[in-house]
Amino acid sequence: MTMQHEIVDVLIIGSGASGAAVAYSLAETKMRILCLEQGDWIKPGDFPANGRDWEARRHSDFDMSPNRRGRVTDYPVNDDASPMKVANFNAVGGGTVMYTAHWPRLHPSDFKVRTLDGVADDWPIDYWMLEPFFAENDRIMGISGAAGDPASPRHDPPMPPIPLGRTGARYAKTMNSLGWHWWPSDVAVATTEYEGRAKCINLGHCTPGCAQGAKASTDITYWPMAIRSGVELRPRCRVREVTVNQDGMASGAIYYDAEGKEHIQPAEMVIIACNGVGTPRLLLNSVSGRFPNGLANSSGLVGRNLMLHPWPQISGYVEDMVDGGRGPMTSLWSKQFYETDPSRGFLRGYMIQFSRSTGPVQEALTSAAVGALPWGKDHHRAYRARLDHRLQLGIACDDLPEAHNRVTLDPVLKDSDGIPGARIDYTIGENTRRMMEHGIARATEILEAAGARDIFCSRTLLNSPGHLLGTCRMGHDPDRSVVNAWGRSHDVRNLFIVDGSVWVTGGGVNPTSTIQAVALYIADQIKQRLATLFD
Ligand SMILES: Cc1cc2nc3c(=O)[nH]c(=O)nc-3n(C[C@H](O)[C@H](O)[C@H](O)COP(=O)(O)OP(=O)(O)OC[C@H]3O[C@@H](n4cnc5c(N)ncnc54)[C@H](O)[C@@H]3O)c2cc1C
Ligand code: SF4
Repeated sequence: MTMQHEIVDVLIIGSGASGAAVAYSLAETKMRILCLEQGDWIKPGDFPANGRDWEARRHSDFDMSPNRRGRVTDYPVNDDASPMKVANFNAVGGGTVMYTAHWPRLHPSDFKVRTLDGVADDWPIDYWMLEPFFAENDRIMGISGAAGDPASPRHDPPMPPIPLGRTGARYAKTMNSLGWHWWPSDVAVATTEYEGRAKCINLGHCTPGCAQGAKASTDITYWPMAIRSGVELRPRCRVREVTVNQDGMASGAIYYDAEGKEHIQPAEMVIIACNGVGTPRLLLNSVSGRFPNGLANSSGLVGRNLMLHPWPQISGYVEDMVDGGRGPMTSLWSKQFYETDPSRGFLRGYMIQFSRSTGPVQEALTSAAVGALPWGKDHHRAYRARLDHRLQLGIACDDLPEAHNRVTLDPVLKDSDGIPGARIDYTIGENTRRMMEHGIARATEILEAAGARDIFCSRTLLNSPGHLLGTCRMGHDPDRSVVNAWGRSHDVRNLFIVDGSVWVTGGGVNPTSTIQAVALYIADQIKQRLATLFD
């Protein structure tokens, strides 16, 4: 029997980076706010980092691909028609539980790509409208970094940067010798004790979850505050569809609990925060007589303009031992090639992300895959020369929006509640291809200047970097966008989208800092307009 719940004022779907920020911000209104999240709370003791098998678990229950991970809380994504595979994490905190916590912001130019470069579209908002929300978000998440980067928008991280370490110092020296920009990265990792969180102890790779609590995932930053302020968070509740009433307004959602039991949750206002794949999936599955092509989709743009950030990775090996898998993954960035320079043969640009390398299992897998580990008596010698000797650069390529890159519902795959999985159709555009080649050539120069040998490149990450953007873009024109300049659906006046779907262009940096700044901005707009929201 279907269970009917009492109506809430605000229903948020998804508890990741953006859903958590919006819940926290709206809590001060004292409205009745409920968040439904398909995943579980993940206990720090459950993170792979607690055990010696931590690398093996990155290929099983903490794999970054939902398809390989295959938890009951995941949904399948058919990405056969894409060279890049989808990475995500479905739990309280969403992708932030698993992310690397590299924390650059979009640049002011990223919001004006049409004006500056004559391609794609301008955002209906600009960097300066978001600036206070970037700062608030940095304070709440707890960001480490160094003020004064001449190539990034001015800001002042609340904690000092993570140590460069042996790997970082080598990169810095090399970049100085080339005369190219570098700066210690902002990272969402505490370098001092911070608001009840312990500081980073540089033990190991943070991507499958930080048991120390130093890495800022929203389950330990925003959510405790939002819950203390009265927000209810219901985990293991997977939303099948957003429902509408006879006036064409969102009326709530139908969801399944952990036992597969159906629930109806009425709401005055619905806010979707399921990410650039989960949000279009949910909207396309919310079909009714009034909205036969999916909710909020009169433009036909729900699911289109998917941006995934192609991310070539270039590695090489040096004689001296470097940091390997010890310490947070990233310690510096370069914005030398970030802004457009038409002489390079492409528009927009990329950030170079300088990484430490990896643990012993991953090193063995990667080296074997490129044929660098001979069998027989040379095996151990070859492996020893590679483990903890690797430098690794990532090229974070701007990914212009193209309508044919899209998310649809898969006709075959279904999650454990029988809801259709997502399907990705994606190709890498010509501009991005040229950008990738440029970045690979520059990264190779950097590695050579650092004294590296055996340089090799994987042109895209097998899994995308987990940046899922653009599939419900914001804009002023209802024919060319899904939501308006403050996240409200053009078609359904009490329906909002706050995650990376609303991005108009992708920029060439990791997105979460900007995703959360946009979410806080939208929440602020909602608060300012509460009295007249549905007029
Ligand atoms: C391995 C990895 C490394 C990354 N590294 C970085 C990095 O270094 N820096 C950076 O900026 N970003 C990084 N990212 C990306 C970052 O995680 C995302 O940008 C960010 O989490 C997106 O926030 P979001 O709010 O849009 O969605 P998410 O954080 O993905 O949250 C969406 C939530 O919605 C829930 N949900 C979806 N559908 C439903 C439904 N039907 N019913 C109920 N709940 C639902 C999901 O379970 C999930 O918890 C990384 C991601 C991965 C996977
Ligand atoms: S290196 Fe630091 S941030 Fe990463 S898992 Fe260890 S304590 Fe956490």
